[in-house]
Amino acid sequence: MKPSGPILPGGTLGVLGGGQLGRMFAHAAQQLGYRTVVLDPDSDSPAGSIAHQQVQTDYLDAQGLATLAASCDAVTTEFENVPAPALARLAEQLPVAPAAEAVAVCQDRAREKQHFRDCGVPCAPFAVIETDAQLQAVDPGLLPGILKTARLGYDGKGQVRVASPAALQAAWDELGRVPCVLEQRLDLAFEVSVIVARNVQGELVHFPLQQNLHRDGILAVTTVPAPDLTAELQARAIGAAETIAATLGYVGVLCVEFFVLRDGSLVANEMAPRPHNSGHYTLDACDVSQFELQVRAMAGLPLVAPRLHSPAIMLNLLGDLWFRDGQAETEPPWEAVLALPGTHLHLYGKRSARPGRKMGHLNITGASASQVREVAQRCAELLG
Ligand code: ADP
Ligand code: MG
Repeated sequence: MKPSGPILPGGTLGVLGGGQLGRMFAHAAQQLGYRTVVLDPDSDSPAGSIAHQQVQTDYLDAQGLATLAASCDAVTTEFENVPAPALARLAEQLPVAPAAEAVAVCQDRAREKQHFRDCGVPCAPFAVIETDAQLQAVDPGLLPGILKTARLGYDGKGQVRVASPAALQAAWDELGRVPCVLEQRLDLAFEVSVIVARNVQGELVHFPLQQNLHRDGILAVTTVPAPDLTAELQARAIGAAETIAATLGYVGVLCVEFFVLRDGSLVANEMAPRPHNSGHYTLDACDVSQFELQVRAMAGLPLVAPRLHSPAIMLNLLGDLWFRDGQAETEPPWEAVLALPGTHLHLYGKRSARPGRKMGHLNITGASASQVREVAQRCAELLG
């Protein structure tokens, strides 16, 4: 359903999914004066615990979706793998951003890569593997490669590195012979991502590119401005992301991840139909955050071009930090971290820490990139 006009503050915005992205979306919506409703099956989710209302059902529960639709003026999603049919069902009753069809493209690596190609945006050479015949026929030039499940992968999960046809066969068995893509392994110099937002009127804005460092497949550190990126590559990545969003008729916040290869070329990796972990610095370093833009885009409000007012580094805070020195679960030394200038701590309200679990993030802002780097280094030592 198309909105008849903007949904103004005072209205009610819903989000499918109760994780940290939903929590920060709800905070942004509440700051602007909206009521918020979260649908999530968990009774103690990060977003559910701070929203005005929670509908506690499964994402595909007909009654839950009906209750959400009846309580809201528009709905968004925070969880990449929220079933597209749930969004389609809601869209019969109220505006949904992003649309089910756009989310479905982002949820399937094969469709996603095809969309990049259709937009003229380079991506890694790949083959779709859904059958034994396709596996046998794989171009050996794609090896060494990475076999990735087409759906439901995140934080490096659902991926196996393969160097030979025999290893490829074994990897596909290991992944349960579900539909996969085999990607050629590229020689990465570094990784960047860009966040764009588009509203139903077709206005498009973008944040500056951020440079991302992953550890064990999980985002660890984001730095902005991206220290190694040239202005020319930055402009090319922004243009590519805007084309990718506009061609999808996308409404909402979209993150596109890119690789910069050692030969200097830019390759699109994947996209997420929602605010992204690599955009959390926008909460403290920009005059409008990725979450406020999600609110504005879905509500049909004007989008403003974000301005970075401080260099920033974001450190992801994984549950491992709660188990330093192999001890029992203990809170990291927040007091010492918060005594440093320009530290902004964001914790997601998760009751128990687990290794690899995203517990929060720490944004560091400052007068110069070198000062931010120094404080970030100090924080890493305190937390390490
Ligand atoms: P996820 O959904 O887990 O984020 P990605 O496709 O982004 O999946 O892969 C996770 C990480 O693995 C990337 O950030 C990058 O470091 C590495 N990677 C993925 N694909 C390739 C590739 N084709 N060549 C080299 N490194 C890759
Ligand atoms: Mg990724």
